[in-house]
Amino acid sequence: MSQIFAKLLNHCIACGSEQLKPWQKKRFSYTERVENTEFQIVRCQQCGTGFLNPPPHTDLLKSIYQYSGHALTSPISLATVLAQEKQFPNSTIDAKRIVSWAQRLNRSGNYQALDIGSGYGFYTQALKLAHYDTVSINPGKYENRVFKAMNGNDPLPVMFEDFNTSNLFGVILMSQVLEHLVEPEHAIAKVANLLANQGVFACAVPHFNALTVKILGTKDNACLWVPEHVNYFTVQGVRKLLTQHDLKIIHIHQITRFRYDALSRRLLGENHRSFILDGIVKYGQIPFNYLANVLRMGIYLNIYAIKNG
Ligand SMILES: [Zn+2]
Repeated sequence: MSQIFAKLLNHCIACGSEQLKPWQKKRFSYTERVENTEFQIVRCQQCGTGFLNPPPHTDLLKSIYQYSGHALTSPISLATVLAQEKQFPNSTIDAKRIVSWAQRLNRSGNYQALDIGSGYGFYTQALKLAHYDTVSINPGKYENRVFKAMNGNDPLPVMFEDFNTSNLFGVILMSQVLEHLVEPEHAIAKVANLLANQGVFACAVPHFNALTVKILGTKDNACLWVPEHVNYFTVQGVRKLLTQHDLKIIHIHQITRFRYDALSRRLLGENHRSFILDGIVKYGQIPFNYLANVLRMGIYLNIYAIKNG
């Protein structure tokens, strides 16, 4: 077994402050290789961002992502992915909304798009429908097979840190990626360099100040998924992180949605469903989601930033 932990960080991964305090500890819950390892979550006293400290070692993260960023332990077919998506529409809705905003905000005149962490390919598909030329990168080989079946081409099977190009992009999209990256400021600096002037960076991350995190703490929720998620962002933290690299935030949207089987899975186990529980989640979430978003405590943040000329 290679190393589990990287070296301890002495500054906040979002704003750079050295005022860090221990927040909670969480044992890993899923990845076989680090069973029962306890991870320390610290919280920045300046911007409220949380992160694992010490963070997991890059080798550990790479060993997880070579197969999947979706916790897959075996291959999955496009038909299965599309059937799941039909049952609980999720990625298609997000991809359509994010690409439509990015398209509206892109004033660069550049119609090349980079999809970082392209997953099953829903975002690249939406970019292609919006007439962008796409470059997609994603290390997970199970996901990349689905991507190819959906889009007809292969993503580059690399981590973003290993990606090199001389191209500039009018749109750079990063959905559910930044929370996986140790020292995300390196990735943001790279994004800023790859973006054309007046191009758009569109990014989605789980929200550390979400109502669900307040209620559930470190119990399983969209944000506190350890050790895959190493960072837990706040609006203030993301703002600091992007501004340092000349990315001017234009919009931040709060997004809240639960899978209809969220309660069934939590209460009855992974493969059991209750028609009543699913109904409660499907309709009960409407007022909850509205409230969470209005309070700016949504489960996810969608952030749109423009590169200043
Ligand atoms: Zn901070």
